[in-house]
Amino acid sequence: MKDQSDRIDIGLAASAAPLLSLIASGRAQSRAELIERTGLSRTTVTQRLNALIAAGLVDEAARTLPSGGRPTRMLELNTGFGVVLAADVGESILRTTVTTLEPSILAESTCAIDLRGGPPPVLQTIVDQFQALLQQIGRPAEDVLGVGLCLPAPVDFGAGRVFGPSIMTGWDDFDIRSWLGSRLGAPVVVENDVNLMTLSESRRFWPEVEQLLYIKAGTGIGSGIIADGRLYRGAQGAAGDIGHIQLNSDNPPLCRCGKLGCVEARAAGWALARDLREKGYDAHNARDIVALVQKSLPEAIHSVREAGRVLGEVTADVVSVLNPSVIVIGGTLAGADEYLLAGVRQLVSERSLPLATRELRIVRAKSDGSAGILGAAQLAIDTVLRPEAIEQVIVRYVRSLAQ
Ligand SMILES: [Zn+2]
Repeated sequence: MKDQSDRIDIGLAASAAPLLSLIASGRAQSRAELIERTGLSRTTVTQRLNALIAAGLVDEAARTLPSGGRPTRMLELNTGFGVVLAADVGESILRTTVTTLEPSILAESTCAIDLRGGPPPVLQTIVDQFQALLQQIGRPAEDVLGVGLCLPAPVDFGAGRVFGPSIMTGWDDFDIRSWLGSRLGAPVVVENDVNLMTLSESRRFWPEVEQLLYIKAGTGIGSGIIADGRLYRGAQGAAGDIGHIQLNSDNPPLCRCGKLGCVEARAAGWALARDLREKGYDAHNARDIVALVQKSLPEAIHSVREAGRVLGEVTADVVSVLNPSVIVIGGTLAGADEYLLAGVRQLVSERSLPLATRELRIVRAKSDGSAGILGAAQLAIDTVLRPEAIEQVIVRYVRSLAQ
């Protein structure tokens, strides 16, 4: 390793940061595209690119494009030079993983946690699990480029803190980013589960779709928004919180938030379970509801159909505001498939303008249970590979070669 690093000029490699960012984001795949996008001379691009290739950050290989013709030399990020850590904090289960920069999972673990003990014990468990996973796959802590954390609570993304009432009582205003960052030696991003599921579903299955709405219908209800290809958070990170929009009716049901008539109190897993228990069935959460639907229990099917119509009512309003081209419905209740989706389709097509629905697709999510954790990894990767941060990645990596 020593010989290799001696040949790499750190300053030259660092000056190649804009090139690496273009390659990492897929916006430049050849030398010609780098010259075009940066406006730099061929000589300068060649010099800087050679430093990136020598450092092992970029690969260049001859490939034939689908259109045919002569093989072209294509540039791509060498995704093996670093790893990312991601954790999905659930109500009682913690999932942790080490991923590549794609991201794909290299190793993972799960363990029990108790959120009621406050942040430090849970965060310490996360650190311990990460360290065990890195040891398991033989990667040193220096290889970690970033860390992503998925939380089941509203998150002020800019501050990296939990905010407002949630199941994470006692976490409000705890500086999660600094606590983890100082122990793991890498930048940390913290985001709520719905936004991360949105990010993951959009990147993995709808990469060409610039306007996408993701609805999570599970024990709770929320949504995430991709606008112009980017996650839209609003001013404080509260955008997309459709679960607590209140709908008018006689005898509106009481919501967990204390208000009357919220979408959640009518259509979330906990609300459907409440209604079915009143009818004498054993149901406590979204999973129980889906199990009863799969057993063809008429009352459960009826509940889910009605929930679909409630979701459809609020979704139609969102369609009028955002004009998405794809609406993805995920979360545990999406397991009831068309029983839930039919109501959404019907209300959206009844209430929205034809221009907004002409090419609109409403589909079930394709992700499995890994959407939250892969979204956390993706967000960490996006953060470290953005143009302002990538120079640090290069400098750190080239220095590590010298050790
Ligand atoms: Zn509510």
